Amino acid sequence: MSVRDQLVQLAELGLTDQNIKELLTKQRQLSQKAKETQAKTETLLEEGKALDAKNNDLVLQKRKLDSDLQTEKANLRKWEARAEKIRGDREYTALISEIGSLKKNIFHIENKTLELMQEQEDLDKKWNDVKKSSSKLAKRLEDEWDFVKDDLAQIESQMTDCASARLKLTEKVPAVLLKRYEQIAVKRAGLGVALVKNQVCQACSRMIPPELFLRVAKCEILEQCPSCQRILVTEEMSYAWVVHK
Ligand SMILES: [Zn+2]
Repeated sequence: MSVRDQLVQLAELGLTDQNIKELLTKQRQLSQKAKETQAKTETLLEEGKALDAKNNDLVLQKRKLDSDLQTEKANLRKWEARAEKIRGDREYTALISEIGSLKKNIFHIENKTLELMQEQEDLDKKWNDVKKSSSKLAKRLEDEWDFVKDDLAQIESQMTDCASARLKLTEKVPAVLLKRYEQIAVKRAGLGVALVKNQVCQACSRMIPPELFLRVAKCEILEQCPSCQRILVTEEMSYAWVVHK
């Protein structure tokens, strides 16, 4: 394969990679809004889960308080019944003190139960807010995807075309050259070639020495930009490729 042919293939490969990069950028920009909304939806979902867990915990606490209350009330009834039958002063005083502390305990449990019910009520409100926000977001997300759906499908199909065009090109380029191109591309933002126009590398905007520029333009040599290291191609090579076909 002549140097000219190699450069022409590389120019085309670079152009295809450039297209793929642009398509990826467009794809990212188009889906950005919906992805942000998606992230918000997921945060709300996590909030909802945390509220659920908290609610389960409150239900268990309430159940325990109810059971404690029943036990204490039963004890109170028992002690009060016994107090009615007692005659001795000392035993009576002890019982009254026991009854007093049971009543305090019951009062405490009932207060705790009220606090817990208030907490449950607040939690319900929060849960409703989360639910409302979630359904609003879900609708927004649907609209946002819907808005970019056609453009994204178009990009998807263009990407498929670019990928198959790229595959065909890589099959034509000699393996050693392809390897060199890919090595540069990995280090240089996915592009292994640079267009040189008016003696300026269009990738890094640096001047190319005139002698080097002339040799590249004449397709005499495969040369890398002294600054960004990309393989230099000229506009004429992309054009030549079209004629070449
Ligand atoms: Zn350069």
